[in-house]
Order: sequence, then structure tokens, then C-alpha cells
Amino acid sequence: MRWIEKTRRSLLEILYPGLCLCCGQALLFQSTLRFPICTSCQNALLPITGHRRCAVCSIPLISELELCSRCSKRDFAFESNFSVYEYRGPIRQIISQFKFSNRRSLARFVAHVLELELAGRFRGMPIVPIPGSRGSVRRRGWDPMLEVARALKRDAGIPAFPQLVRRSGGAQKGLQYRARLENLSGRVELKRGARQLPQRVVLIDDIFTTGATADECARVLRRDGVKKVFVLTLSVDM
Ligand SMILES: [Zn+2]
Ligand SMILES: [Zn+2]
Repeated sequence: MRWIEKTRRSLLEILYPGLCLCCGQALLFQSTLRFPICTSCQNALLPITGHRRCAVCSIPLISELELCSRCSKRDFAFESNFSVYEYRGPIRQIISQFKFSNRRSLARFVAHVLELELAGRFRGMPIVPIPGSRGSVRRRGWDPMLEVARALKRDAGIPAFPQLVRRSGGAQKGLQYRARLENLSGRVELKRGARQLPQRVVLIDDIFTTGATADECARVLRRDGVKKVFVLTLSVDM
């Protein structure tokens, strides 16, 4: 009887295949996939490799220096950022689908990628999701990184402190670091009645661009007594 069930499932897949959220191809015969991303797109995701990375922002370096030219001029409130991918190719498509095409189900995929790094680099440390602005959360109806934090808590038992909020203001996109910092200044705050935060936490986000958002979030957390803030992001936009 098992072959009947198998045939039925295969027929159903041909008739009603899901689509890969990255390339749009039908997910034929790929019912074992954990995420709606086809195997060739998953294989095309290339993590940043090589040993030489900027010790602060995580971009690959070709020189012998420890910091990139940007980070050598800045003093961030966080210790360092670690990004898994460069913000291009399939990961860019996945982030766009997740945030701008409302594919909430991709939160589990983002959580899965971050979980591997949390287990390896930040074992035992709780996470704080970088919040979307109130306006964007209201428009979308949900907050992408809060969704990822929930998935990490549910699927991997990682303690999450979703305690930051971000008031709406001008968009960050297209602004340089200084302008971004000024734009954000005073707009990130702790939720009222927030729990006491641990001494060391990991901020999580999808893209690390200038570091201004992570910096402002880290400032707020440190003002509240957190000693060390690390940042873990899915990708870095270089
Ligand atoms: Zn695909
Ligand atoms: Zn750097």
C-alpha cells in the first residue's frame, strides 16, 4: 500500500507543486525540503569563506590589516558583527521575499541559518532581535526579526529578549552611516516594563549595512547594564 501513497503524493506534487520562493521554479519531487527554497537555490547560497575578515563588521579582507577602512574610523557600541552571507545572489532574493513580499514562512529558514552560528559562536547567549520600525511593523502586520527570534526559541530553545522598540522616522535606506545614526538617535528604546537583560547578548538582524542600527540598539542595551553586545546577521551589504 505504501507505493499507492507514494504515487498519490507524487501526482499531487505534479498537479499542485509549491514554488521556490527564490527562483520561482516549481518544487517538483522536493517534498522533503524543510523550507520553500529549491535545492539548487540552497546550493547556490555561498557563505563568506576565507580566514581574513574584518574583526568588527565581518567583510572579507584582502589586506593583512585586522580592520577594514570603515571600521578603523568608527567606535561601535557593539563588540563585533558576524555575517553568514554577502548580501547578493539568492540570499538577497530570499530577504526580499521574506520582508517585502510578506513570506512569513521564511522566518524558519533565517532562524535555521542563524541557529548554526549561535550554537557555534555564541553558545548559551540569549538573543535580542533588532526591531522593525513601528510604522513598518504596522504596515506589514508582523516584525521579521521578532518572527525569527520566536522560531529560534521554539525550534532551538534559544532564550529571546524581544525588548527593543523602534519609533518610526525617516527610512534608513540610502543614507550614509552618520546620517543613519542621526536619523535613529533616540528612536530605539526599551519596552516599558522590560525584563532585566543578561550581561552578554547577541543582536540578530537580516542585513548589516553601515552598522548604525546595530550600534544604536547596542547603545540602548548597554545603557541598561548589558556589558557586551555581539551582532549576528544573515548577510553583510558591502
Ligand atoms: Zn530556487
Ligand atoms: Zn569592518
